[in-house]
Amino acid sequence: MVMTQRIAVLGATGSIGDSTLAILAAHPQNYEVYALSGYQRLDKLLALCQQFTPKRVAVPTSAVDEFAQRLRSVGLNTDVVGGQSGLIELAKDSQVDTVVAAIVGAAGLPSTLAAARAGKRILLANKEALVMAGQVMIKAVKTHHATLLPLDSEHNAIFQCLPAAIQQDNTQIHDQSYGVRKLWLTASGGPFLRKSFTQMQQAGVAEAVKHPNWSMGQKISVDSATMMNKGLELIEACHLFDLNESKIKVVIHPQSIIHSMVEYNDGSFLAQLGSPDMKTPIAHALSYPKRIDSGSQPLDLFALSALEFIEPDLQKFACLGLARQAMQAGTQATTVLNAANEIAVAAFLAEQVRLTDIAAINEQVLNEVQVPLLDANSDIDDILAIDSLARSYTETLIAKMV
Ligand code: NAD
Ligand code: MG
Repeated sequence: MVMTQRIAVLGATGSIGDSTLAILAAHPQNYEVYALSGYQRLDKLLALCQQFTPKRVAVPTSAVDEFAQRLRSVGLNTDVVGGQSGLIELAKDSQVDTVVAAIVGAAGLPSTLAAARAGKRILLANKEALVMAGQVMIKAVKTHHATLLPLDSEHNAIFQCLPAAIQQDNTQIHDQSYGVRKLWLTASGGPFLRKSFTQMQQAGVAEAVKHPNWSMGQKISVDSATMMNKGLELIEACHLFDLNESKIKVVIHPQSIIHSMVEYNDGSFLAQLGSPDMKTPIAHALSYPKRIDSGSQPLDLFALSALEFIEPDLQKFACLGLARQAMQAGTQATTVLNAANEIAVAAFLAEQVRLTDIAAINEQVLNEVQVPLLDANSDIDDILAIDSLARSYTETLIAKMV
């Protein structure tokens, strides 16, 4: 008998939400869409409610009443909850088996943490949750016997290339008998890989969000252009795989065919390959340890001409160095960096600062803001206080620039 997994897709109206729901729609016998959330584009959320008939849905607090009315008018009696408390309620709902954490940015942290504390199976796209609260998240996962499966394509690739014992308990990576020497995170290099710093400086929004291989949300697309995305992923990998940043290398691989690698002490490099389509890692995590058809195009090996590997230019992509610096300093610093970056990216998208200003802003905030230390026992409110302090510091800094 097939057991139906009940799923809550938080961030259902986004790019990861789209890919996830496409897979869920193709396998109705395996998965029930129990809850959805959306923040903007509520027309799209309404259409998703009509298609998937979830039992519960979360929207911004200010939209609860109107959205409930719209649902009734199309004959649905879905339960509507609002705001962060609504998202938390869905994440820990006793009917939910699996939470797809696909909200973008710090806004995804409270519900992702709530899912961990409720012992859920978490499919993690929201990398910012680990960047801000890695130790607290991992501790919650262990204490409450939650399962954390990475959706980020690089981390999913590494997960697939690790032995089962390490997949089940990340601290086993330190058992020398498994021979893990290093992790290799691949990066596409984004749209400015082969452009000069000056060209990058002059780039407008449309050019910056036009990723050569992946189709993604706006924020992560800008992060890919500055390589802050790889910096956030480096921090994410340190927490997911319990490794020091010095054990994690970044290599630019412009074709985005190898999604990341594990280097072993016998000289083996294990890699996961596939078309650049998030449906593959999402399907892997949904069905793990089994496999289902993801609907992605199979990789056409004969159509590939070459696979290149390039060392990142840390001057052009200074955000990558900042991520290492922050990771060495501790979780308070990675929280500051993440907050500064979210504000700087929003200012770039609003055409207030240049693309290359993002790294300079991040660096200045990281070096100047004074915050208390965080550790695995920190309270989420302490983390959110550092996040908001760094946000307002960054906003003030940007206000002086424009
Ligand atoms: P997106 O912008 O397309 O979607 C974001 C979702 O979050 C939407 O449903 C939106 O309504 C919701 N949201 C935004 N602000 C919110 C708030 N304040 N409160 C509640 N909900 C809010 O983003 P995306 O590209 O799907 O990325 C989602 C997450 O997945 C990010 O953390 C990103 O780094 C990560 N990720 C994305 C990709 C990708 O290919 N898109 C790949 C790897 C990891
Ligand atoms: Mg990624």
